[in-house]
Order: sequence, then C-alpha cells, then structure tokens
Amino acid sequence: MSHGKTIFKRIIDREIPAALVHEDDLCLAFRDVNPQAPTHVLVIPKKEIPSLADADDSDAALLGHLLITAKKIAVQLGLENGYRTVINCGRDGGQSVDHLHVHLLGGRSLSWPPG
Ligand code: AMP
Repeated sequence: MSHGKTIFKRIIDREIPAALVHEDDLCLAFRDVNPQAPTHVLVIPKKEIPSLADADDSDAALLGHLLITAKKIAVQLGLENGYRTVINCGRDGGQSVDHLHVHLLGGRSLSWPPG
C-alpha cells in the first residue's frame, strides 16, 4: 500500500523496526542502516519537520533538544575522543529522507571538508 509517510515517520509509528538507542516525548534516536562510521546514529524529532529549511522560531527548543540528546548519546556510546553532528538539508545538502534528522558520527577520525 502506498502512503505519504516518510520512512522515519514509519519508524516513529512503529510500522518498521529500528535499532533504537533513545526515546523521549520529543525525539527518537536509532542506528543508521548504512553506517558511515563505527557509530552512526540518527536523532529525529517526533514532530514532522521535512528539513531544517522548514523549521521556524517555534522549533528552536526542539532543535536544541535534538543536539543535547545527540551529546548525551555520544557519552552513552563512549565517544570520548569526539564525534560529529551533521544535518543535511535539501538536494545540495545531500538530504535523502524528508524528515529532519541529526546524524551523530563517531568511532573513527573523520576527515574535513566533507565531499
Ligand atoms: P540523509 O541522507 O541526511 O537524508 O540521511 C538519511 C539517512 O537515513 C541515511 O544515512 C540512511 O542510511 C538512513 N536510513 C534510511 N532508511 C533507514 C532506516 N530504515 N533505518 C535507519 N536508517 C535509515
């Protein structure tokens, strides 16, 4: 059956499984299925915001919560040598799922600049 939900909304609604590492009233975090580093977690708001470009002032506390949650997960997962948080936005930003998400990457030395 085809429907308009993104894959991440389907994870929120428990229609498809994910390897959860965190959940609270505002967000969910789970392992990326195609990890780009030994630790690769996605932190997503339960609110459906397609991309950072669609967020507005009323989302400021929620966006802050996503970052603070990413930081706490980094501690929980032992990323004591550091990590990177990334939000891809739009086509040029490399966004492939239209539900705002923060990538948390760590467990190896990450190069800069990104491709
Ligand atoms: P982006 O390219 O920034 O939109 O990131 C989307 C990420 O979602 C990619 O890193 C994908 O590997 C990941 N992804 C896609 N589908 C799933 C899924 N069902 N469970 C976990 N991660 C997923």
